[in-house]
Amino acid sequence: MTSRLLDPLTLLYRGPLSSCNYACPYCPFAKRTETAAQHAADAEALARFVDWAAAQTRPLSVFFTPWGEALVRWRYQEAVTRLSHLGHVGQVAIQTNLSGKLGWLEQAERSKVGLWATYHPGEVTRARFLARCAELDALGVRYSVGVVGKREHFGEIEALRAALPPQVYLWVNAFSQGPRKATSYYSPADLEFLSRIDPLFEVNTRHYPTRGKACATGETVLSVDGDGTLRRCHFVPRVLGNLYTDSLETILRPRPCPRPTCECHIGYVHLPQLEAEAVYGPGLLARIPEGTGDVGAYLARARGLL
Ligand code: SF4
Ligand code: SF4
Repeated sequence: MTSRLLDPLTLLYRGPLSSCNYACPYCPFAKRTETAAQHAADAEALARFVDWAAAQTRPLSVFFTPWGEALVRWRYQEAVTRLSHLGHVGQVAIQTNLSGKLGWLEQAERSKVGLWATYHPGEVTRARFLARCAELDALGVRYSVGVVGKREHFGEIEALRAALPPQVYLWVNAFSQGPRKATSYYSPADLEFLSRIDPLFEVNTRHYPTRGKACATGETVLSVDGDGTLRRCHFVPRVLGNLYTDSLETILRPRPCPRPTCECHIGYVHLPQLEAEAVYGPGLLARIPEGTGDVGAYLARARGLL
């Protein structure tokens, strides 16, 4: 079955930008800078993508998942703002370290914007990060907050949870060490502690065996890069076509996952068996649990994927 013109589509956009103002020791983009020409190329690619999105009639959601930090750049602030005002765009989400100015959000249609904000202990003080979260609260912007669950971060994670407003969801990404992910890194007490902080933490602790399983990517979700190259998701390299030169109706169709495993939130939430929308609702892309679905049932469905 091919897609119809008015079927909703989610696009995961990752342009050429690959620089960051932070210096996280585990990250290839740490303190990486780019030339004026590289920034110009990123700006051109972004403008082309936003113009394309504006010209569509199909319901769209957009999730910016940049290499590095994009939201310190005016062009990404403007892109989020413009997309949020388009009638056929339902959600605009972006991953950010929350270090940039936030006042521009006043101009956006904030009900549609969702920020996936990651706290990086060592790069910013907790007080400064929390002040940014308070700014978002004052602006009425929806966001989730996340931390990588390295053991040396546990004190910061606990303090952050205590300081954040209770309604703000704090997710913890399982620290990955080898193919078995968190199971080899955490003790039972660690897992219990992190599950108390993040009730959904368990879902992120595994490598789900997905080869041959149904996944909505390639059918209702696509990954797109700055040239318009389309892939089903960020983890499967096979090219499906080009956003600017090919017809989406011939590209979008159900396909089983070709990878042995899927272990990243931005991937496995598109497994229909997981029914992630039940828990996340419109906050799915920005990882904000806004659905009414039962968390215990979600955890059970995740266990059922093994
Ligand atoms: S904030 Fe994100 S992109 Fe920047 S150095 Fe840290 S992990 Fe990398
Ligand atoms: S299950 Fe994960 S890796 Fe496989 S196609 Fe879906 S998102 Fe991609």
